[in-house]
Amino acid sequence: MAETRRLTDIVHERLGSVVQPGDVAVDATAGNGHDTLALARLVGESGRVFAFDTQAEALANTRNRLERAGLLNRVELIRQGHEQLKERLPGSICGRLAAAVFNLGYLPGGDKQQITRAATTVPALTQAVDCLKPGGIITVVAYPGHEGGAEEFSAVEKWFGKHPSRLRAVQILDPGRKDAPVLFSGRRQLMQPSSTGH
Ligand code: SAH
Repeated sequence: MAETRRLTDIVHERLGSVVQPGDVAVDATAGNGHDTLALARLVGESGRVFAFDTQAEALANTRNRLERAGLLNRVELIRQGHEQLKERLPGSICGRLAAAVFNLGYLPGGDKQQITRAATTVPALTQAVDCLKPGGIITVVAYPGHEGGAEEFSAVEKWFGKHPSRLRAVQILDPGRKDAPVLFSGRRQLMQPSSTGH
């Protein structure tokens, strides 16, 4: 658990170097709301965070956390799978995201059967990158250790390996211990290679 927290701190640090007041960001797995809160602080009063989760319990926990911090008015809670990201974001938002944050696996303290899965995580990652603005950041914490986690971890690893033309500064932080969570991050290219040139 100490490890997970440390990775979360690193995620928040990386987000902090990209997300500015007034920005728009997505937490693709709201869970207990730690990442939503970090994003809400970073986007400031004029910014907006869209937080997705499929479980009512997760969104309730997130709502409470944000309410306690007095920042709920910066956040829109969306009870939908992140594989519907593009469909559910207001039309003008896609292409403007400064950050998209994924913390995979199950809800800490909740039902361990309700996990994120490769079949929906992978399309969600692609949609998230589609919706990043140039220079925007995507972060993913994946958990190879829990049941069903290894398959999803491999899919995420493969996905990051497949997108060198859309992402730059891809970093993979793998503590290298069996079953330890791994952090993937990358920034949307400033320009697509195909559209550069003359
Ligand atoms: N970031 C959280 C931890 C996330 S736990 C925190 O800081 O506490 C992973 C969450 O993903 C769970 O709450 C689970 O309900 C949610 N989830 C599972 N499948 C999902 C999907 N398809 N779309 C969005 N969220 C999903």
